[in-house]
Amino acid sequence: MKPRILLIYTGGTIGMMANPSTGELQSLDFDYIHQQIPEIARLDLEVIPISIAQPIDSSHMQPAHWTELVELIAQHEATVDGFVILHGTDTMAYTASALSFMIQGLAKPIVLTGSQLPVGILRSDGKENILAALEIAGKKHSTGTPLLQEVAVFFQSKLFRGNRVSKISAHQFDAFDSPNYPLLGVAGVEIEIHANELLEQTKTNTAYFKQLDARVGLIKLYPGINLSAYQSVFTPEVHRAVVIEAFGSGNTPNHEAFAKVLSAYVEQGGILVTISQCTSGSIQPGKYASGHLLAELGAWNGTDLTTEAALTKLMWYLGTTTNPHQAGFCTVIAGESA
Ligand code: ASP
Repeated sequence: MKPRILLIYTGGTIGMMANPSTGELQSLDFDYIHQQIPEIARLDLEVIPISIAQPIDSSHMQPAHWTELVELIAQHEATVDGFVILHGTDTMAYTASALSFMIQGLAKPIVLTGSQLPVGILRSDGKENILAALEIAGKKHSTGTPLLQEVAVFFQSKLFRGNRVSKISAHQFDAFDSPNYPLLGVAGVEIEIHANELLEQTKTNTAYFKQLDARVGLIKLYPGINLSAYQSVFTPEVHRAVVIEAFGSGNTPNHEAFAKVLSAYVEQGGILVTISQCTSGSIQPGKYASGHLLAELGAWNGTDLTTEAALTKLMWYLGTTTNPHQAGFCTVIAGESA
């Protein structure tokens, strides 16, 4: 029997077409994908197309869309071998990260892909991305179990772990990277999957989490930052947790006004999470004197999480835990950190 893959359309450039009068790119009906890529029918797969209720440019993505995707996947888990999600590139890394926390223990692939050019344009990268993503999602071990058992992003011949990837280019076809984790595979003449890098699911049941708490903030430090201007960010009723993109291995400015805003937030019950604004490497709290402040304030160590993974993991963790604490947050869920 051919592997059955659910192809879920969420919108994005991949399914856009230029409005003939204004030239503006607009979302199209999902049928368009089939007209543009008749090759889908030639794959040794049974591809079942489906669309979210209202396809969007992924800049409009909200946690409610992630819940919609989780529901769609849960509804079809028993009847398909894998999932391919067509998604705009702008927030693809956020969606991939969110799904890796919201769907745990699923021993089937969820591969997100998209394109930099609409599929209707001659030089589009969309066709290859879709065809390869579908082929990857259909790959199985000789035992019949799916090869890939995690959330991944496929883009421009590279297969990445979904919660390790970031969009790094607004104009190149090679638009994604995962500096803190090796590629899961490469599509060359053959599609190579790097078995040693893959997650293996050991749970017998899939756990679906639909509850997220989006009261999560983000601040990127820069020399001269005036934290008191961000007072409303550091208000626990607004943000239960704030991710601090610190310098290097977790360093911060050391002046009193800066520390005061953070300590007042923590005293009121706010949670700080430190990640690095460097794209590779990890938080090392004690490495420099300037790295002590956040650790002394009890900031949770975000180690080598991407911004996308840190924010979505917090949304999931705060949405599902009654007594959030550092050790719980730092437990690795889906290979998101070292
Ligand atoms: N704005 C688009 C989106 O993310 C860009 C893209 O798809 O590449 O939906």
